[in-house]
Amino acid sequence: MTTQAVSIPFVDLKAQFQSLRGELMDAIESSIESMQLFLGPNVHAFEREFATYCETADAIGVGSGTDALILALRACDIGPGDEVITVSHTFIATTEAIVILGARPVFVDVDPVTYNLDPDKIEAAITPRTKAILPVHLYGQPAEMGPILEIARQRGLRVVEDACQAHGARYMGKRTGGFGDAAAFSFYMGKNLGAYGEGGAVVTNSAEIAEKIRLYRNHGSETKYMHSVMGVNARLDEIQAAVLRVKLRHLDEWNRARRAHAASYRAAFAGSRVRAPIEADWAEHVYHLFVVQVDDRDRLMQQLGEAGIATGIHYPQPVHLQEAARQYGRGEGSLPVTERIAKHIVSLPMYAELTAVQIERVVSEVRRLA
Ligand SMILES: *Cc1c(COP(=O)(O)O)cnc(C)c1O
Repeated sequence: MTTQAVSIPFVDLKAQFQSLRGELMDAIESSIESMQLFLGPNVHAFEREFATYCETADAIGVGSGTDALILALRACDIGPGDEVITVSHTFIATTEAIVILGARPVFVDVDPVTYNLDPDKIEAAITPRTKAILPVHLYGQPAEMGPILEIARQRGLRVVEDACQAHGARYMGKRTGGFGDAAAFSFYMGKNLGAYGEGGAVVTNSAEIAEKIRLYRNHGSETKYMHSVMGVNARLDEIQAAVLRVKLRHLDEWNRARRAHAASYRAAFAGSRVRAPIEADWAEHVYHLFVVQVDDRDRLMQQLGEAGIATGIHYPQPVHLQEAARQYGRGEGSLPVTERIAKHIVSLPMYAELTAVQIERVVSEVRRLA
């Protein structure tokens, strides 16, 4: 007997859309109807709502998470000749933002348990040119901000958080985004809070940084055709802001669902060959991605694919070994933890709308095949 297995996608954006279809379409329609499509009421309201959500003084809507990183670093006066300490085990945008400002990324290895910047390895990477630390809250788990902030305070460094995967995550009870001088969020569609196009935000408790970013994102202009600094076009658009306002009201409930799915996965993988992610005591992880490690990752992915279960690798090649970034790193062997985990990690399906039946199927196939 053969049973035709139903396929399980890696993320299911359609399921989320169906659950909010009426509200979303109304928001989009009324935004267009109003024809206030340039830094208008939805962007302003979303900025207030997102700042409140992140427990920060301010939020500035921008064009993408990458824009948010670039503008946050620029507002912290990072520029040519400066060094920024960051990780190689991340999406390339973290490094791109540093490089595009003329600064130099200095890669530090990650902690093998949390997959985040290892605070014990920061000191050795500091030089007289070091200006900032850029930790990433990877997969939705906050970086260990306590020791990072302490080093930054002692050494007079800026801290910018890459929170593009960690909307709503908490470190010691406090939301990510409010720890450093500024933090960057992405609203790329697959993120825990995703637009239907591009979008991002910088959150900050500094009025000075907020003011600079409001200028930079809009051609350095406060008054039409009057430009006080050289900026860019990195505005969040009204339609995306309207969508994000609807979705923000559901973010905590979606994150709770992700955490519950992660707990089911973790319990089911206990005692198997699958190394499930570990949530640090101080973390409230929001599981943007559910990443496990296995011995033979490529074979597992292939066989899961044949069984109709989609998976991903985040990320298959560390940034310091990418052709685009090799010149900034110290090559193969320089970041042993980063390089080792890149060979074993695999991301399993994770989204709020996953059902118990789907999770059960992923678990039984992974346990059987790993
Ligand atoms: C998604 C992401 C970014 C970039 O965000 P975009 O909105 O795609 O520009 C940056 N850093 C990390 C860690 C990300 O996951």
